[in-house]
Amino acid sequence: MKKIKKLKPEMFTSVKGMHDILPQEQWLWEKMDKAVKNIANFYNFSKIETPVVERVELFEKTTGQETDIVEKQMFTLVSKGEESMVLRPEGTPGVVRAYIQYGLSHLGQPLKLYYFGPMFRYEQPQAGRFRQFHQAGFEIIGGEEDSLYDAQVVIACYRLIEEMGINECSVQVNTIGCKNCRPAYRKKLQEYYKGKEKNLCKDCKRRLVTNPLRLLDCKEAQCQELKKEAPIILDYLCTNCSKHFKSTLEYLEEVGIPYSLNHYLVRGLDYYTGVVFEIMTTGFDFALGSGGRFNDLVELMGGKKTPAVGAAAGLERLVEVIKAREIKDSHRPRQRVFLVHVGDVAKRRSLSIIELLRKADIKVAETLGKDSLKNQLRNADKAGADLALIFGQKEAFEENIIIRDLKTGAQETVPLPKLADSIKRKLQ
Ligand code: AMP
Repeated sequence: MKKIKKLKPEMFTSVKGMHDILPQEQWLWEKMDKAVKNIANFYNFSKIETPVVERVELFEKTTGQETDIVEKQMFTLVSKGEESMVLRPEGTPGVVRAYIQYGLSHLGQPLKLYYFGPMFRYEQPQAGRFRQFHQAGFEIIGGEEDSLYDAQVVIACYRLIEEMGINECSVQVNTIGCKNCRPAYRKKLQEYYKGKEKNLCKDCKRRLVTNPLRLLDCKEAQCQELKKEAPIILDYLCTNCSKHFKSTLEYLEEVGIPYSLNHYLVRGLDYYTGVVFEIMTTGFDFALGSGGRFNDLVELMGGKKTPAVGAAAGLERLVEVIKAREIKDSHRPRQRVFLVHVGDVAKRRSLSIIELLRKADIKVAETLGKDSLKNQLRNADKAGADLALIFGQKEAFEENIIIRDLKTGAQETVPLPKLADSIKRKLQ
């Protein structure tokens, strides 16, 4: 007989940086899904879903050739037609593509959109950093270039994080100026770093010529040290950017969102203009959410000049904080009614009782595969049920069922046709 070659178990583990969302975590993801929908509904954002796969040029031309995302982190696919495509590393370019492609500007001025879905970046996995992760994003596209909208995307993102039970958050805010004032600042930065090049990391040496602002968010120790004395953009802002920045902060103050100025926050994407921000929480060095203004993106992609601003929260990071802080959830769905059977006849008829309750829209849990009464009651207890429905030979024969209140131990026998009404009354 031919010997079966045993395959190595590690061949069947998930790919590095990609994670499973297991059944025991689903309640948290469902809660997140609901929270995103609630926040979006409340603040009047409409949902948009774009494909996970986009053309490579979309990100090269928008997120930027020089950015880490495009340079190092894209999952590229080559289709049969040799077309180069990527698994989207972020949501905004796809949303803006759809905005232009379908002429969505007629839906509203501004148009408020939100999305929820997986993103892919080839990063070194670590705490809060995955290669497949989920973002919930809020974008406000069109209308006036009003700082109110900057504040509104921060508020939506901040409230989403709060809604998940995460407190002790604060927003780090900066502005990277606009086409008019940024060049002077860029020049100042280049002057500041002149003569210090040898102390910069390899990437920053190159960025000093191509994109000097990026030197400010380099994580290398030697670059962090050098940036401490670097000039700050606030001293170079044009009147418009200065006013916009100030009033964004005033709006945040109005609703009591705590913020601090971070003069060196630049965010690694090319399309940002003006206000940029990151939402942080105590004890974690990663951002839970981030975003900024991108006034030139629609035009860059062939649309009309359209101011826009957006934010996205990283949902795996919220999960990480929730787990680390052991945030308990009072809304975690409980199985309130648990059906327990005794004997074969009752076991078979239990299926009909479940169908009867389904028609009455009463969710019922069971472990009908277990015959021991003790085990079934233990499971009812574990599920946190309020009521156990106990159905034995005698009850099956007499067409009734026992409802036991698991908190008080009180029992009542009710005829089967009255079961649904009795449960509803008791659960009220
Ligand atoms: P960004 O698109 O870079 O502005 O990121 C928006 C948010 O997505 C960040 O604030 C993070 O919360 C989250 N995020 C970004 N990259 C990752 C990653 N590799 N793994 C998990 N979350 C991420």
